Amino acid sequence: MDKKNIDWSNLGFGYIKTDKRYVSAYKNGAWDEGQLIEDDMITMSECACVLQYSQTIFEGLKAYTTQDGKIVVFRPDLNAERLANSARRMEMPVFPEDRFVDAVEQVVRANKAFVPPYGTGATLYLRPYMFGINPVIGVKPAEEFQFRIFATPVGPYFKGGAKPITIKVSDFDRAAPHGTGNIKAGLNYAMSLHAIVTAHKEGFDENMYLDAGSRTKVEETGGANFLFVTKDNKIVTPKSDSILPSITRRSLMVVAKEYLGLEVEEREVYFDEVKDFAECGLCGTAAVISPVGKIYDHGNEICFPSGMEEMGPVTKKLYDTLTGIQMGRIEAPKGWIKVID
Ligand SMILES: *Cc1c(COP(=O)(O)O)cnc(C)c1O
Repeated sequence: MDKKNIDWSNLGFGYIKTDKRYVSAYKNGAWDEGQLIEDDMITMSECACVLQYSQTIFEGLKAYTTQDGKIVVFRPDLNAERLANSARRMEMPVFPEDRFVDAVEQVVRANKAFVPPYGTGATLYLRPYMFGINPVIGVKPAEEFQFRIFATPVGPYFKGGAKPITIKVSDFDRAAPHGTGNIKAGLNYAMSLHAIVTAHKEGFDENMYLDAGSRTKVEETGGANFLFVTKDNKIVTPKSDSILPSITRRSLMVVAKEYLGLEVEEREVYFDEVKDFAECGLCGTAAVISPVGKIYDHGNEICFPSGMEEMGPVTKKLYDTLTGIQMGRIEAPKGWIKVID
């Protein structure tokens, strides 16, 4: 298989059109059989539900080459399940989970030439998404939908090593109690754009959102869950109904317990306790873990003992173990790695 002529190690995180994408349409109460197509453009009514009322959900996962040259994806069944949960909350039809995994395989297979070689740090990012496409003007769910997956090669998240970032406690909220924070919907991102642009203008890398109800508990950032390490090496992650259940974070909790023998806790985390943690990281598919060195809160700073130069030691062990599992250097738990032949 000839690879595309791409400078893999210097790729950024941007959209690059690949050869094929998957589309399945929902009409008259049923999904069609689905197909791979070449056309990257979508034509729809000016009154499409997605354009007027943001009825859209998505997923994100990566295909990559392991040490022994296999092309694999990481736990796509969990993305299928999460998209189904998002669909139910958004009054959209569920795309069958087995068909989701099959469609992921088809897209990767059709774009094998875009899967970066092992060791470059680059991956083929997959973006499954679904949206309401028929015209809707009175507020109600669409009746016709498309489920799609496109692929785009992306560069290594950390070029030249993972440097700790600085985040701020946001004055904006990400998700309301009993709202849509626990599903992967575009609307959660639309309303976070002002907050992230504001944080960047002020010189911060990310926002820490607190619970909208009491503003006392840690939720997450715009697109990643928190992991904390206590001074006695326990792993703590916030529990809340308005946090998006990150697959990376859930995998890291298993790694911490089963591979590193660490104690793990998923519980409410009060912002007041954050200053007592030894390490802090953000987990998501893109970076696996981004170390946090400093949190700014209205004139006060929390500086983690791990500092601003490198990942804390426990965060690093978690990162090395999970990326080792993903890249085939460490044996994976059953069912975590799906090989695409
Ligand atoms: C996608 C996402 C994450 C990370 O989830 P992963 O499955 O680990 O990629 C975390 N928070 C939010 C709000 C997200 O949308």
